[in-house]
Amino acid sequence: MSKYATVRVKDNMYKVMGDFHHLTPNTPIRDLNDGGKLVGVTNPREMTYIHSYGGEAVFFESLSKGKLMATRCDNPKCEAKGTIYQPFRIHCMDCLGKNTVIDMTDIAKKTATIHTFMVCERSGAFNVLHKPIKFINIEFEGVSTILMSYLAVGEPEMGMRVVPIFQTTDPTYTILDLAWVPEGTKKNKLPEGFSF
Ligand SMILES: [Zn+2]
Repeated sequence: MSKYATVRVKDNMYKVMGDFHHLTPNTPIRDLNDGGKLVGVTNPREMTYIHSYGGEAVFFESLSKGKLMATRCDNPKCEAKGTIYQPFRIHCMDCLGKNTVIDMTDIAKKTATIHTFMVCERSGAFNVLHKPIKFINIEFEGVSTILMSYLAVGEPEMGMRVVPIFQTTDPTYTILDLAWVPEGTKKNKLPEGFSF
């Protein structure tokens, strides 16, 4: 059994199994220039945070199966009818109607290009990506919005054609299951666990 809590939903309620949080011993903070005087304590904490996906759940479930889902407004009365959104937007921001979920994996494979990019040598806490991180903004044909992700192989360039790769072997069910590589990248160059 996992040291960390796991959660399921039954009868529309969260069922938490295991320990939700772990108490960790404090340690004293002492001032070495003042005879080791106590000035405080550390409070290490570990807890399981429950992050609900709601209407975006299908997006993350699909990544784990190698599919990129987007949404589209199909409301005939909406001025923005037919507009496709990536990143996934549950509701249309023009008419506030519920968008239709569509599979845009093929559009991504055939038309994705780098709109712009930035290379980050340093990162924040809990980063798991290799540094430098090559963040890319991706443009798709027929899609009104731009997706932020990262390039897993090679060096980014403006206008470069890229294709999506998915962490399908051991998915995290987070946005980390999606990355991009230059078009034509060989299968054996992909990061471990990822496939086209
Ligand atoms: Zn709309």
